[in-house]
Amino acid sequence: MSDAKLRLLPSIDRLSQCHDAVELIGQFGRESVLNALRETLNEARKNILSGSDGYSMPENDPSWLRRVKEILEGMTAPRLKRVINCTGVVIHTNLGRALLAESAAQAARLAGESNVNLEFDLDKGARGDRDTLVEELIIAHTGAQAATAVNNNAAAVLLALNTFAPGKEVIVSRGELIEIGGSFRLPEIMARSGCVLREVGTTNRTHLKDYEEAVNDNTGMILRAHTSNYRIIGFTTQPSTKELAELANRKGIPFMVDLGSGAILDMAVYGLPHEPTVKETLEEGAGIVTISGDKLLGGPQAGILAGDKNLITAINKNHLKRALRLDKMILAALEATLRLYLNPEEALRQIPTLRYLTRNLEEVRKTAGEAAAVLKTRLGDDADVFVMEDVCQAGSGSLPEMDIPSYSVAIKSKTMGPNELALWFRSQNPPVIGRVDKDLFRLDMRCVDDAEWFK
Ligand SMILES: *Cc1c(COP(=O)(O)O)cnc(C)c1O
Repeated sequence: MSDAKLRLLPSIDRLSQCHDAVELIGQFGRESVLNALRETLNEARKNILSGSDGYSMPENDPSWLRRVKEILEGMTAPRLKRVINCTGVVIHTNLGRALLAESAAQAARLAGESNVNLEFDLDKGARGDRDTLVEELIIAHTGAQAATAVNNNAAAVLLALNTFAPGKEVIVSRGELIEIGGSFRLPEIMARSGCVLREVGTTNRTHLKDYEEAVNDNTGMILRAHTSNYRIIGFTTQPSTKELAELANRKGIPFMVDLGSGAILDMAVYGLPHEPTVKETLEEGAGIVTISGDKLLGGPQAGILAGDKNLITAINKNHLKRALRLDKMILAALEATLRLYLNPEEALRQIPTLRYLTRNLEEVRKTAGEAAAVLKTRLGDDADVFVMEDVCQAGSGSLPEMDIPSYSVAIKSKTMGPNELALWFRSQNPPVIGRVDKDLFRLDMRCVDDAEWFK
């Protein structure tokens, strides 16, 4: 019985010549359609052998055509999709961190689509340096003597360590041996840079004399890492950045501060906790400060190094920099983002990440109310949908330990558990990412402008 059915299956050749397939070839290309036909035939063969009542084949049965289309659409659909961030984490690493301002996105697009003066000096008509696109702006915002930018903050730290301390010791407090998001671990970066980690002090207490006693002829650098995703509280002590800078200066060794999130603006002015700015860290005497482009700065993924001119010059001479350099679209977006900071109020209005962090709570509550109404209609009597007070986080090691007041739409369904609800929301177009909290599914509304998404 199944043998007879199997013999009836048409050949790929025959299938590819039928009218519908020819049309699909015009749309998706020959190779893709042949692959989809092959997969469909295999499935039909399996259906026949297992005696299931799934589609078999012959041309007069259109169910296989539907399946071919489905496979082709699956193959050609973008894997990277817009998702709605209702996680309660504003700068969410897994969801792509900061959101670009309109002008930054446009600049990236222009750089992608056109030839641009990336490394071309339009005045001299000669080769230029891509750093000049952003260096002046970084200097203007931070008071640094010089600056450069690379692929991300991890690359910035790696590059600086490799420039000043290959084969040498780098002194770091045991209280600052950070791990960020599981993939940036200071000891590992240190090893990869060719440096020897010289830990000093204890987890909770490190004194200036611990640093002082560790300095020897083979010391390449003193490094301070901003403990950006945790706080050590209680019986603690750390020398100030100023004291470390003075020590490094006295001993003639470079002093770097990895600020991580590193704000350009003083967030305290906008009602958020104070996050050390690049400017004040340089003023305290750091030789180099490194920050991420896509955390509090609100730009594209990048790592900025700002500081002393001689140190930045040495970094620029390191051949490793060529491997870590920024793409033109990223540079364009970074330049446009930095340009917005010339007017801080404008930066706050235009950069979505900053706008969400400083967004008026009443406005968040209003959006939550609208979204709850939409979802009530959609989910029907099965679900209890209500607005609740909530707290969210800046995320990505920015403003750690800080609860930002927010509002969520909470959902409790009679037919679906919270994890099922989470899956249902993730399967929407666009997918909505919330969080499960005991028996509730919660959608934080701080990063949502418009309840339309839930329709
Ligand atoms: C986030 C962070 C990093 C890693 O930066 P990326 O831009 O993700 O490479 C390094 N150090 C600190 C202190 C951070 O907060």
